[in-house]
Amino acid sequence: MDHFHYKNSELSCEDVAVSDIVASVGTPVYIYSTATIVRHYRVFADAFKGLDALVCFAVKANSNQAVLATLAREGAGADVVSEGELLRALKAGIPADKIVFSGVGKTPREMALGLKAGIKQFNIESEAELEALNTVAGEMGLVAPVSVRVNPDVDAKTHAKISTGKSENKFGIPWNRAHSIYARIKALPHVNGKGIDVHIGSQLTELEPFKLAFTKVVELVKELRAKGHDITHIDLGGGLGIPYELGKEAPPSPDAYGKMAREVLAGIDCSLIFEPGRLIVGNAGILVSEMVYEKTSGNKGFYIIDAAMNDLIRPAMYDAYHDIIPVSLAETQDKVSVDFVGPICESSDVFAKDRLTAPLKAGDLIAIKSAGAYGAVMSGTYNTRPLIAEVMVNGSDYAVVRKRQSLEELLSLDSVPDWLTD
Ligand SMILES: *Cc1c(COP(=O)(O)O)cnc(C)c1O
Repeated sequence: MDHFHYKNSELSCEDVAVSDIVASVGTPVYIYSTATIVRHYRVFADAFKGLDALVCFAVKANSNQAVLATLAREGAGADVVSEGELLRALKAGIPADKIVFSGVGKTPREMALGLKAGIKQFNIESEAELEALNTVAGEMGLVAPVSVRVNPDVDAKTHAKISTGKSENKFGIPWNRAHSIYARIKALPHVNGKGIDVHIGSQLTELEPFKLAFTKVVELVKELRAKGHDITHIDLGGGLGIPYELGKEAPPSPDAYGKMAREVLAGIDCSLIFEPGRLIVGNAGILVSEMVYEKTSGNKGFYIIDAAMNDLIRPAMYDAYHDIIPVSLAETQDKVSVDFVGPICESSDVFAKDRLTAPLKAGDLIAIKSAGAYGAVMSGTYNTRPLIAEVMVNGSDYAVVRKRQSLEELLSLDSVPDWLTD
């Protein structure tokens, strides 16, 4: 459930008309709903009520500091994958002891930063990374808390580009090496093995792959304990999907996911960590764009809009479906079938193909729904298109939470060497 509704045929985010935001901020613009973020966080956290469970929001889904600060107030932790994300989380008020550091390529510099901040744990993804962390922690006279990310070789049944839990993916340590890496952890003086971590992919729409992976983790924890390792933490990753296309996808509810996890993990006596990203913010954001031109080619119609793949890359990169709705509801019941496309010089700059929509004309506003996760964070400046604005709504208030980059700022990032300027 989200807080984007029509009021008098005008799309609103909570109590603010989208067209009011556009009148002052322009298009394209991302608009986030505080109430939706908070609601999704609470629904997920409530699914684990009574358990020793920490919800670490996956910052890579939406790293705007206003989003992170909203979640910090709800008591969320953070799952970060870079120095930049770590700094954002800390700055937004998420305590270090609720931050876990994931990712396959943490540099020594990033490790040192995490150690200095006193983060909860590093999720280790290779033997080489473990050795590097031991060295860095040794130089600082510290002991790094680590969990080992294992690859359970489970098919997440999601898009290949967001599937991470098969043995051919780059993520985690192969299942059969979990024992040897734990033996190595015991031998190293500056790492402390605390647990097991697993994350099999994103936008999962079935419970079964999670259940298979969690069951394997429980077995592994028992085996490791039998060998004398003190396993106290299990990190179950993120990945629970959201409905992008109503009536087509029906991902399990957080409640059903929680029930399944409770069953599989019953009696294991570990602190649990979850790393949801998309589930918290996906449906809490829209991308609003203005239609620039209508064009026909043969018997095909195109609506050319002012947002492009550099602003929201999911359709181009993952063949992702996004609902597209008009900001002002038309009076007519007529529908046309068109492609919604951006202005970038790439055939993949398409938001929707053969989409049924109320007829629109140049100057009309549209909202691309479910753009709160992996939207603004994946944007770029291809075609010298500046980064667009992000706005956050809270009841009847709203604020620009990332200002639109000016062309001047963008161009000033380049510099021309001396030999070309005289
Ligand atoms: C991307 C990622 C997540 C979040 O995934 P969602 O599908 O957004 O919930 C969690 N943990 C790790 C390690 C990730 O890479």
